[in-house]
Amino acid sequence: MTTYFNYPPPELQAELRDIANRIVAPGKGILAADESTATIGKRFADIGAENNEENRRQYRQLLFNSDNVLSENISGVILFHETLYQKDDNGTPFAEILKKKGIIPGIKVDKGVVDLFGSEGECTTQGLDDLGARCAQYKKDGCDFAKWRCVLKIGQNTPSYQAILENANVLARYASICQANRIVPIVEPEVLPDGTHDLDRAQKVTETVLAAVYKALNDHHVYLEGTLLKPNMVTPGQSCPNKASAQEIARATVQALQRTVPAAVPGVTFLSGGQSEEEASVNLDAINKYEGKKPWSLTFSYGRALQASVLRAWGGKKENIKAAQDELIKRAKANGDASLGKYSAGTVVGAAADVGLFIKDHAY
Ligand code: 13P
Repeated sequence: MTTYFNYPPPELQAELRDIANRIVAPGKGILAADESTATIGKRFADIGAENNEENRRQYRQLLFNSDNVLSENISGVILFHETLYQKDDNGTPFAEILKKKGIIPGIKVDKGVVDLFGSEGECTTQGLDDLGARCAQYKKDGCDFAKWRCVLKIGQNTPSYQAILENANVLARYASICQANRIVPIVEPEVLPDGTHDLDRAQKVTETVLAAVYKALNDHHVYLEGTLLKPNMVTPGQSCPNKASAQEIARATVQALQRTVPAAVPGVTFLSGGQSEEEASVNLDAINKYEGKKPWSLTFSYGRALQASVLRAWGGKKENIKAAQDELIKRAKANGDASLGKYSAGTVVGAAADVGLFIKDHAY
């Protein structure tokens, strides 16, 4: 085994580091608005809106045209391919609107999950084949970071060694291709909350998965200072009879990260994973209040937990746009405060703040 390799050139290192650091600047996090066409369709179905291209454009326009104060708490937005090439009513591309607000456009580059043959319902994520060419184009079209989601499932015999190794490796290949194209990779190994497992089991599985991911990133010479991690918070399974307090979730989550995530990684941007908006804010706040070694920014990259109240308030109606935008700004501020450990539970009340957002075997 040879251990010879080159670090990326200093200018590339500096560019990647700068992007990553801007995304996790104090009090800021990411809005994940990269729902695939099928997934946004499910959100629209809940509010009785039709899933067509114009409605998807109207909805994303609502999000991105929110008041400029949004950028005090949102540093980056993850887009779906279709959205990157859409424009607002005045013909301005969405990526330009975001940049004018000081928000960095990002792009989902994975092509979804596929079954692992011979496994107990486990999966890997596809999309590597043409990834280099797509990243080069996305960079030209204004995206400075990307997301790739892998999924691991907790069961009696899972996650298997096969799934842990395969997903770690595909994330590392993705990360290295992104960096070669001057794009910061957000590395997302999501351990799903489905199941009856308890907090301890979720913690141990998360540690095992993250340890494998960082080994693979090292094997592929990924420049850690120019990456971000998007993990699940460590919570008991959705069907576990023993619920955990925010403080217990914070302890298990921070410990899992301390044991596996190198200090060189600038930030951890948690997914919300089916928590209600309020739970996601309270738990992030508890994580930041937890006393212990935390060499990374600990912030949010929420999809469902930033949009549930927005969707509810909008209801697909023009006259509700302003009310829906106000919900987004309120929730972004709550999470920005939580990322500093300065959120007080219950102080931000939204149209759907306490609604559980768990979806079985969730796909993005
Ligand atoms: P949730 O916050 O809805 O879990 O999703 C964020 C995301 O981007 C998952 O890939």
